[in-house]
Amino acid sequence: MRHLLSTRELDRSAAVAILDVAEDMADVADREVRKLPTLRGKTVVNLFFEDSTRTRISFEAAAKRLSADVINFTAKGSSVSKGESLKDTAQTLAAMGADAVVIRHPSSGAPLVLAESGWIDAAIVNAGDGTHEHPTQALLDAFTIRRRLHGAASRGRDLGGVTVTIVGDILHSRVARSNAWLLTALGASVHVVAPATLLPIGIGEWPVTSGYDLDDALAAGPDVVMMLRIQSERMKAAFFPNAREYSRQWGLGDERLATLGADSIVMHPGPMNRGLEISAGAADSARSTVLEQVANGVSVRMAVLYLLLSGTHQADTKENAA
Ligand code: ASP
Repeated sequence: MRHLLSTRELDRSAAVAILDVAEDMADVADREVRKLPTLRGKTVVNLFFEDSTRTRISFEAAAKRLSADVINFTAKGSSVSKGESLKDTAQTLAAMGADAVVIRHPSSGAPLVLAESGWIDAAIVNAGDGTHEHPTQALLDAFTIRRRLHGAASRGRDLGGVTVTIVGDILHSRVARSNAWLLTALGASVHVVAPATLLPIGIGEWPVTSGYDLDDALAAGPDVVMMLRIQSERMKAAFFPNAREYSRQWGLGDERLATLGADSIVMHPGPMNRGLEISAGAADSARSTVLEQVANGVSVRMAVLYLLLSGTHQADTKENAA
């Protein structure tokens, strides 16, 4: 793996392999000294053109636990706000010797541009590009589901037979896109539910089934209910009458929570709009994996940085060949 731009490039075995390395990384988090020397001397740049709390901190923690040097570059307060182009920024980072660039950008496709540009010879990790993809979020979601289902016996397993319902602002969600492809590659069945206005026109080309009625979808007894944030910042029109109406029809409130099967789990990528797409009761319930998702995010991002930067894979292959 040279870059991680999208989950569409991951088949079952590649995805399982990343999740298995993430299991090893999670073991490191349980040790007294939570650090590995693996990426000593490597430089990871967090290049964030859009706000983020969880993802940026998570990549920073992941890189530091692998002993890499970390440079945080946020667009606000940098020369980007003075009009510097992505090309100039990339060339500056290349001159500083960046080995990996973790990029979040409001434009879909910006990480691909960087990976194919030749401006910088670094591993590129997509940390969220517009409404396109957020592959490490989907990987951490898959990891969380696998752990909840199989616990200590997770290694080597996929998500065959698991049913996942993704609810809410599918149209603007890079999390939904990345999950649709990753979870189905891992063998899960994915159903998406949203008001008609928040389902993308091309939903027929996604590997999912879709519907408008949340109660119908929950009555089918999904193993996983993944609630999405209403992304007001990406909405340039009114997509539903008002917040109360949205919450009544598509929110996971306490009453709907009570109808879920005994072992089903509730996920949310954060940040949550409590009281809109999810009630406080649902967000804080024992079924909620919200904080597990955050913790697992560090292990999964360690795995991705390790696989991209350690060079172990190539070294192993050469040794095996010799
Ligand atoms: N944090 C996720 C993202 O960056 C989900 C969200 O913002 O709603 O896409």
